[in-house]
Amino acid sequence: MNLNIEKTIQIGEEIQQKILATQTKEELQKIKKECLGKGGIISQIFRQTINLNNQKEKKDKIKLINEWRKKLLTIAEKKEQELTEKEINQQLLKEKIDITLEGKNLPWACLHPLTQLIKRIYDIFLRLGYQIVESPEVETEENNFTKLNMPFGHPARDMQDTFYLSDGLLLRTHTTNTQSRILSKNPNTELKIISAGKVYRRDDDDATHTHQFTQVDCFVTGKDISFSHLKGTLELLMKELFGEQQIIRFRPSYFPFTEPSVEVDAACLQCQQKGCEVCKRSGWVEIAGAGLIHPQVLQNCGFDIKIYSGFAFAFGLERLLMIKYGIENIRNFYLNDVRFLQQFV
Ligand SMILES: [Zn+2]
Repeated sequence: MNLNIEKTIQIGEEIQQKILATQTKEELQKIKKECLGKGGIISQIFRQTINLNNQKEKKDKIKLINEWRKKLLTIAEKKEQELTEKEINQQLLKEKIDITLEGKNLPWACLHPLTQLIKRIYDIFLRLGYQIVESPEVETEENNFTKLNMPFGHPARDMQDTFYLSDGLLLRTHTTNTQSRILSKNPNTELKIISAGKVYRRDDDDATHTHQFTQVDCFVTGKDISFSHLKGTLELLMKELFGEQQIIRFRPSYFPFTEPSVEVDAACLQCQQKGCEVCKRSGWVEIAGAGLIHPQVLQNCGFDIKIYSGFAFAFGLERLLMIKYGIENIRNFYLNDVRFLQQFV
């Protein structure tokens, strides 16, 4: 079969018509295979052409065939795009979303009130340039007691107060273990650390005591750190948490790891000092223990106490929330009762 130029053009035009008339991608693929693929009509014509003896005719025809092949491939490609778009549009039309349909009401979720409070406290201290450090709940006796000026035989180490594990380990009784760890690792360094976490004591569980509760420990070391730094920091914290009107007071106290030591009272968060059951009509509620870090603690951790001093305070978060929201039973924080938790959404 030797096709003349006119016939070749006619075949090309026929294929073009076929491509343009296709309605689906499957049809298009079929035509492409039959006409433009290996062994397709165009390839057949090409193979016949290269056997021609007349060089001029051969050259002209090959040029023509290549032009048509290119043209038809472009048309097929365009058609394919068109058909893909058409398919997508049809699909979208089929899956049209009825936006007037009423949605499902999913219940609101929220973070646990203790987690919310920790996040707020961390935010406040991050703004003040503190570092957040969290330390292990399983601790050595040395970090939990010895370094914090509670040597062997100290009453606070009593078996009745502490959950002892084997091999000199225990469940930490306070987050102050962070002080032992961080001070020992960074002797003679200016530090500003905030640390929150669970602590454990062998209390009999009742409305105000649990064997596990949450504590925040804050400490600063540096040159010339004084009581005024401590007071300023605590005042700022309480105002940030409970409002500009919130006031606090210090009462002398004793802790083994601070000297001098104070109890920190806040003006009753319930009655604003009018007198209520929570503050036992005194107008004040005890919220934290604080003081300047005991020189013995600093020395135990390798600090030069002629140059460095520090302050520290710690408080229980459950107690703070109980006073603030009038929660009567501390166990509510651990029962996972949705009716209790959803109040904090
Ligand atoms: Zn009160």
